[in-house]
Amino acid sequence: MATPAAHTGWGSTRDGRDARYGQAVVTAGQGQPAAPAGAVLTALLQAASQEVPAAVALRRELHATPELGGHETRTASRVAAALGEPGAPSVTTGRLVRIGAASGPSVAIRAELDALPLTEQTPVAWASRNGASHSCGHDVHLAALTVAGRAVRRVGGPLPLVALLQPREEGYPSGALDLVGSPQLEAQDIRAVIGVHVHPHILCGQVSAGPGPVNAAYDEVTITVQGRGGHAAYPHVTRDPVLAAAHVILALQHLISRRTDPMHPAVLTIGTVQAGTAANVVPEQVVLTGSLRTFEPADRASLWSAVSATAGATAEAYECTAQATFTQGEPVLDNDPALAAAAAACLAQAGLRVAEPLRSCGSDDFAYYCTRYPSLMMFVGVGQPGMQDAPGLHHPAFLPREEAVEDVARAMLAGYVAACSVVLPGAAAGLGWAPESV
Ligand SMILES: [Zn+2]
Repeated sequence: MATPAAHTGWGSTRDGRDARYGQAVVTAGQGQPAAPAGAVLTALLQAASQEVPAAVALRRELHATPELGGHETRTASRVAAALGEPGAPSVTTGRLVRIGAASGPSVAIRAELDALPLTEQTPVAWASRNGASHSCGHDVHLAALTVAGRAVRRVGGPLPLVALLQPREEGYPSGALDLVGSPQLEAQDIRAVIGVHVHPHILCGQVSAGPGPVNAAYDEVTITVQGRGGHAAYPHVTRDPVLAAAHVILALQHLISRRTDPMHPAVLTIGTVQAGTAANVVPEQVVLTGSLRTFEPADRASLWSAVSATAGATAEAYECTAQATFTQGEPVLDNDPALAAAAAACLAQAGLRVAEPLRSCGSDDFAYYCTRYPSLMMFVGVGQPGMQDAPGLHHPAFLPREEAVEDVARAMLAGYVAACSVVLPGAAAGLGWAPESV
């Protein structure tokens, strides 16, 4: 896996002044955010409301024709066209659409292009029938980004907006790594990145924009338990890897409950068990796969080695062997405190209630942007009261209501204006360029 570039803050000089413009720049996490630019946000929200009907239609279109990670070219070009730039530059199967001045500092908003390999189970006429499904709400995010982008194109804005149409959020290697550190993204002079994800654990009309770590680091583990196969009637001449693997699964559970500080969130889930082909045969090997989620870098390192040691020692007790290999996924998603504070005020102005910060052991490759730029991931509520058991993210029947398109767009615009006010205090009070017709 590629290693993301180091965090470089706001691109300011050591004395806190912007190298290119000589303006004071707030360093991530320091100082108070500038007051939200009420007039700019109001104008953007008014323009956005006119874009919503077309975006809802686009959401249905994207939902009906989803594409899997690594194959999102049609989705990307459709969204780029809706943003007013069908020829926007590509980065693998993603696109970058810049709205506003062609050079100088900018603020980016990320939306994911990919769907999941699920057979959709919703009753709507625009349900997918191609074996892929937007069961994570990415269709909503994309449609909402066209609302935000078109509003900024129409009204103008304090800083250029770069729409990051990102591929492969759901897969590995992560599509965020296509963008982070790429020459195409570096050329955009990005000073802050905003992400928004729908979330069914938050009620409609509410948004979580908590500072600090909100999502876990994610790794995948594959454990191969090797035994000696043979006839099920003569187990004494075999070394049964199924029995050994069963004990490995149980033994691994103590690593979280007994070996990890209970004040440090961590999860180890074994998600697949592959073993055998017949009821009367002891197989040669069993393959387990699982996911490991942590918030503390030290826990991540120690659990990798503890998983290997525990699996190996447990299998050995059954005269089998176990080998663990790891695929490192995204780091902890760490929201910039200054962006979070500024966004809270803008969200209220956008008619959205700021919810209690949502922190979970979920993961998102938006975390890679946090390693390079001050970044903020917000979670927009799509939950209904009394419907806690409704299908959630990644369920084939998950279907956010259509009003979510406008809610997500409003959150994106609030995040954009908030980021402008933090990156260049004072600039957000005015419009940085002449609006364009769309
Ligand atoms: Zn998602």
